[in-house]
Amino acid sequence: MNSVIVVGSFNVDHVWRCAELPAVGATIAGQYATGPGGKGFNQAVAAARAGVGTAFVCALGDDAGGALARQLAAADGIGLRAEASDQPTGTAGIYVDARGRNCIVIGAGANGTLGAAHVAADPELLAGARVLLAQLESPVETIEAALALAREAGVATLLNPAPANAPSSIGLLRLADLLTPNETEFAALLNRHVGERVEAEAVAALDGASLHALCRKLLPHGSVVVTLGSVGVFVSHPDEQLRGDAQTHYRVGAESVSASDTTGAGDAFNGALAASLARAPEQPFAAHVRYANRFAALSTERAGAAAAMPRHDEVQERFG
Ligand code: ADP
Repeated sequence: MNSVIVVGSFNVDHVWRCAELPAVGATIAGQYATGPGGKGFNQAVAAARAGVGTAFVCALGDDAGGALARQLAAADGIGLRAEASDQPTGTAGIYVDARGRNCIVIGAGANGTLGAAHVAADPELLAGARVLLAQLESPVETIEAALALAREAGVATLLNPAPANAPSSIGLLRLADLLTPNETEFAALLNRHVGERVEAEAVAALDGASLHALCRKLLPHGSVVVTLGSVGVFVSHPDEQLRGDAQTHYRVGAESVSASDTTGAGDAFNGALAASLARAPEQPFAAHVRYANRFAALSTERAGAAAAMPRHDEVQERFG
């Protein structure tokens, strides 16, 4: 049975590791590698490796990238529900510097054609599911339809509002029971949807009460988890739903690891959070956040995005 349904993107990632990120007009040398990616696929791999039944709803081209997606989904035991697209399978060009920082260019291709009808086409999809997880690399109408369907079916909705420059609406955000922006996405959403001007670089340094107040403005009736990279995570709940936690808002510090490539850390966090929530919904929310924080930290010790996702037993071995 699929406890987690991920709706989103698959990309073929083309990754160049360079000493420095290329400047405008520069030609530089780098080490090249290719592999699977896309926020949707990365998060589906994270959820599956975190040990719960996972389905992945996406659109693929009739090409080598599409074949790669099918092969890799099968290898991780992910139930693939792929819509056939007349566009090429999505691609991403990723540059990573010696400090693990990255720049990314996306060619959406098939991801841009994923239709709401495809999500709705399979009435069995949501039966038995506990969490539906989506991002913003698919058409907004499709994400909105998927979240609304999940709500109707009593399935918890987790929206990772990434990337920061993707189109979104306050209506879409409020279909989420849980919203998981990183600092950049949080600042962008506040600016765009509730008229609050906050610099992304300043988010981590804000005091808890201020951060909580901003989260409440953005999502009055849902929980917000702001991921803060190497600083960790900030959690904010509405007064009426603490999800088993003792406080309305709190921080969880990042785990101490030897991070070498943070590409996909947010995806690791989201997939693991969805999996943990689906596995043991009765546990306090803080336990799920702690698990996702550990899972994501481990993913930063390895190169790549989907390929870097650890497994449930590795997380347990490392952190107990
Ligand atoms: P994104 O990849 O979306 O930018 P973040 O950078 O906020 O997301 O990272 C997501 C999560 O991954 C963090 O909240 C944290 O749990 C973990 N993480 C990221 N970078 C590190 C790091 N250097 N050390 C430990 N954990 C990290």
